[in-house]
Amino acid sequence: MVDVRKSGTAQLLADAEQSILFTAVRPGLVMERGEGMYLWDTDGNRYLDFIGGWAVTCLGHSPAVIREALVRQSSTLVNASPAFYNKPMIEFAKLLTGLSGYDKAFFASSGAEANEGAIKLARKHGAVNLGGAYEIITTVNSFHGRTLATMSATGKARWQSLFAPAMPGFKHVPLNDMDSLLAAVDGNTCAVMLELVQGEGGVHPVDADYLRRLRELCDERGMMLLFDEIQTGLGRTGKLFAAEHYGIQADAMTLGKGIGGGFPLSALLTRECFNLFEPGDQGGTYTGQPLAMAVGQAVVQEIVDRRLARNAEAVGFYLENRLREVEHTYRLSPVRGKGLLLAFDLPAPVGAGLVAECLREGLLINSPHPATIRLMPPLIAAEEHIDEMMPILCKAMDRLLA
Ligand SMILES: *Cc1c(COP(=O)(O)O)cnc(C)c1O
Repeated sequence: MVDVRKSGTAQLLADAEQSILFTAVRPGLVMERGEGMYLWDTDGNRYLDFIGGWAVTCLGHSPAVIREALVRQSSTLVNASPAFYNKPMIEFAKLLTGLSGYDKAFFASSGAEANEGAIKLARKHGAVNLGGAYEIITTVNSFHGRTLATMSATGKARWQSLFAPAMPGFKHVPLNDMDSLLAAVDGNTCAVMLELVQGEGGVHPVDADYLRRLRELCDERGMMLLFDEIQTGLGRTGKLFAAEHYGIQADAMTLGKGIGGGFPLSALLTRECFNLFEPGDQGGTYTGQPLAMAVGQAVVQEIVDRRLARNAEAVGFYLENRLREVEHTYRLSPVRGKGLLLAFDLPAPVGAGLVAECLREGLLINSPHPATIRLMPPLIAAEEHIDEMMPILCKAMDRLLA
C-alpha cells in the first residue's frame, strides 16, 4: 500500500523534472491537499504551515468561503471581458475603498502587476503634474516583484544587473535614513515607494518618525507616496493595513497575496486626485475578473467579520513571547516584525538547513536570508498551533545550533 503511493510520488517527481521549467530547487515531495493550518503531500505526510502560501493563505487552506464564492460566481458569470463592468468588481471596489479610505481601485492578478500599475500611475503624475519627472525612489533591501520594472524597483543589488539592461528611473536609498533620501530627491523625482515592513528583505519595519517626515516631504514636493502593502496588507500585521500602525495615508497603495486568500488577485488603490489614467493607459485581460472579484470580496469580508487582524495581533504576541523564551538558549536575535509577520536571526547561516530539518519533522517555515527565519502563518492561527510548532523548531535548532 505505502509502496504504491511512494512509487506514485516518485513518478510525479520524475515527470516534474522532465516537464517543469527549472526556476527553483524544490523539495522532493508533491503537495496534494490542504485544510486549515495543514498541508498533506502525496505520501500522506502532514505539515503544519507557518509559511501560509507565502503570506497568502490568510484564511488557512481550502476555506469554505473561497469554495462557495467560486461555485456561486462560476454558476453565474465566469468572464464578460475587461470592457464591461461586472457586479462583483463594483462591490469589491466599494468594500476595499471603504475599508482603506482610498477612493479608487484597479484590479490585477499578481502583486507585481499591481506595482506596475502604481509605477505607471506615478510616472503619469510626473508627466501631467511635475513637468515630466519620472524617477521613483525605493529602498535598499526592498521587494516589489519579478517583472522587469518591479525587479528594477526592488532594492536587491544582484537584480540590477540580472536580465540587464535594468529599467531606468529607479533610485534605491537605505530604509529609515532621511539624509540619504533627501540627497536622492531632485526635480526628476515623481514618487517614493516602500513597504511598511520589508517582507522578503527579512522583516524590517519602517520607523514612525521617518515615515512622518517622508509624508511631509512628499506633500512639500508634490511627489506621490506609494505603500506596497502586498505582504503586510489585510490583517497580517495586527491591523487591516500596516499604515494604521503609523496613522499615515499614502497616495496609492498596492495589495496582493492575502486579499485573494490563495486565489491570484491584487489591487492598486489611490486617491481621487490621482485618478489620472486615460483610455488605453492601463488595463489587462483579467482586470476585474468576476471569479477573482467574488473570491476577493468573500475573503476580505471574512477577515473583517472574524476580526482576524485582532487575532493576528494576539497570536503574534503569543508567538513573539514563546520565541523570546528560547532567544538566549539558541543565541537568536530579538524577534522583530508585527502581528503574524515575524522574523529572527540565527547565530550562524544555517537557515536553509533549519528549513529542511523542520520540513522533515512536518513544519513549514521560511528562511529569506541564510541566517534569518521568517514566520507568516495563516491569520487563523491559534495558540495551540504555536504550541505545536515551538517544540519542532527547538528540536531542529538543537540539532543545527548545538
Ligand atoms: C510578494 C510581493 C510582491 C510581488 O507579488 P507577486 O504576486 O509575487 O507578483 C510585491 N511586493 C511585496 C512587498 C511582496 O511581498
